Amino acid sequence: MIYVSNPHAQYQTLRNEIDNAISRVLIRGNYVLSEEVKAFEKEFSHWVKTDCSIAVNSGTDALFLAMKALDIGRDDEVIAPSFTATASIAAIGMTGATPVFVDVESEYYTIDPESISSAITAKSKAILVIHLFGQAAELEKIRLIAKQNNLFLIEDCAQAHGAYFDDKHVGTLGDLACFSFYPTKNLGALGDGGAVVTNNTNLAENIRQLRQYGWDEKRVSQQQGWNSRLDEIQAAILRVKLPHLETAIDRRNELAEIYDQQLSALPIKIPERRQNTKHAFHLYVIQTEQREELFNYLKQHDIISGIHYPVACHQMPAYTDLNEEKKCLPITESLVDRVLSLPVYPELSHNKIKFIANTIKKFFR
Ligand SMILES: *Cc1c(COP(=O)(O)O)cnc(C)c1O
Repeated sequence: MIYVSNPHAQYQTLRNEIDNAISRVLIRGNYVLSEEVKAFEKEFSHWVKTDCSIAVNSGTDALFLAMKALDIGRDDEVIAPSFTATASIAAIGMTGATPVFVDVESEYYTIDPESISSAITAKSKAILVIHLFGQAAELEKIRLIAKQNNLFLIEDCAQAHGAYFDDKHVGTLGDLACFSFYPTKNLGALGDGGAVVTNNTNLAENIRQLRQYGWDEKRVSQQQGWNSRLDEIQAAILRVKLPHLETAIDRRNELAEIYDQQLSALPIKIPERRQNTKHAFHLYVIQTEQREELFNYLKQHDIISGIHYPVACHQMPAYTDLNEEKKCLPITESLVDRVLSLPVYPELSHNKIKFIANTIKKFFR
């Protein structure tokens, strides 16, 4: 079986280092928010090139705490694409704010700057940009819109570790940026994890408090907070994986190029790359009119593809009532019927990619 992602393959490759890191933590005896977490935070912000990073319990928590630090809550609106992982939208809901869904760009799958402008109201407080599948959003235009309208810009980088916009790592261009270390992500723990990065030291301090009951150094709650701590074992595992991340992203790009070459003559749409960006290829997503048939055909040949996403957030019962008039997001609504994610992860061999591509060719013959 070939799966769309495979965290176990990476564990196998780094097994000795990971096992040693885990046992180092077990023997030392500090299990939560201690030296491994501090070291990881430093190494991660160095990698992204931001001044601060705060490790938390998940990507969803990272988004939630980032928005709380910006004082986003009830009566506020956050503009976000509907075509995303539900987690992005769930985090908005956790603050009490209302997500205002907008469409994506058809070529790049990221939030459409034009639709942002038309969604702004007096209640708008922030734009949540999602670098979907590893593709950087149109940050230049969106930064300008945020600035002109006095809105915060939050980057959801959960799928985009290793993606660049111009020569800047994504996550460095907004007010705050959030990462997930869920096992299947480009940088994955062996459990849950996440981080917020920012150059704003005040916001960073605020999030540090919020992740642990609102405590200051004397364990006095200066504000109401939550519990969203990263544990030492996950931090130690992430420290093993981080030095391999750049190579892993290059490998994802290499595999994506093989797919491109193999599939370009077929009646499918292969992923486009935005100019002057580096794609991180968390997912290699094609579009086809025969999505269900191809999915099943691949499955018969032991290839498990994925569908990101079969239902857009504005179509989900949890979110349909948010806007009085029925939302219509034509690009998003056509994508959910056509997208298919092919297996891509660094440990996948060139031969396996060619086998998958050949199987797709056979389907279209
Ligand atoms: C995975 C993901 C998240 C949430 O991360 P968790 O660590 O699973 O909470 C948020 N946004 C996007 C785009 C994601 O892919």
